[in-house]
Amino acid sequence: MAAFNRLLRAAAPVASTLSPARRVLSSVASGATAGIPASLARAGASVLVVRRDPAERNIQWVFLGCPGVGKGTYASRLSQLLGVPHIATGDLVREELSSSDPLARQLADIVNQGQLVPDEIIIELLSKRLEKGVAKGESGFILDGFPRTIRQAEILDGVTDIDLVVNLKLREEVLLEKCIGRRICSQCGKNFNVASIKMKGENGRPGISMAPLLPPVQCASKLISRADDTEEVVKERLRVYHELSQPVEGYYRSQGKLLEFDLPGGIPESWPKLLQALNLEDHDDKQSAAA
Ligand SMILES: [Zn+2]
Repeated sequence: MAAFNRLLRAAAPVASTLSPARRVLSSVASGATAGIPASLARAGASVLVVRRDPAERNIQWVFLGCPGVGKGTYASRLSQLLGVPHIATGDLVREELSSSDPLARQLADIVNQGQLVPDEIIIELLSKRLEKGVAKGESGFILDGFPRTIRQAEILDGVTDIDLVVNLKLREEVLLEKCIGRRICSQCGKNFNVASIKMKGENGRPGISMAPLLPPVQCASKLISRADDTEEVVKERLRVYHELSQPVEGYYRSQGKLLEFDLPGGIPESWPKLLQALNLEDHDDKQSAAA
């Protein structure tokens, strides 16, 4: 725990300024409670406010990053390392869709019409997930895929405390190659990547090399690519992403919580550097030193 406290102090100066012993768990179905954003109150969403003293809980981080950057992979690895749940809003939506909840039908209509899932529904799913986690004794989280807009970020601030926001970045030409190289096995559904990336450093930027993720023999003849993994579509997806995400990045930058991280390559190159950037490099040493 001491190692975590040190980590929190080092990685998220904001956390230490929070008032101590603040441990509020209140139901705000009416939306009349102070501190609840008006947008949520208007939506009449039933949301639990989960705030705990940072010293008594695990990390509460958000992962940002454009499609194809590998955000889910890094978030998932870190969640395992730190013992916190990795909560991806995409998974929450998929889980809800497969449930018999009344909300599932509403959600199915929205998704089938190709519309964006409204903030109120996402925050309700997220809130339910956090609530369930607290009941199970979970502490902390890494959020992936949320918030996508400033409004969502404000709603999140009304519900819980975010310590740190990690923004994973990769050069656009690398992202393009990576997305175009994506393949899925039509039989087992596993993901692979045939792109072998070797880019020289230029203008002071380091070179990037990423090995392909090749399929085993039994999948090799069954590979397909997604119809929307073309250069044109990927470029458009990135443009839309940046347009939407820049305000969110700015929001967290102004709170002093944004950690920009340029991925230096694939997982083998990036993982140790990411740990270093998060002060997690000597995590085990710190733990034994603190014991
Ligand atoms: Zn396969």
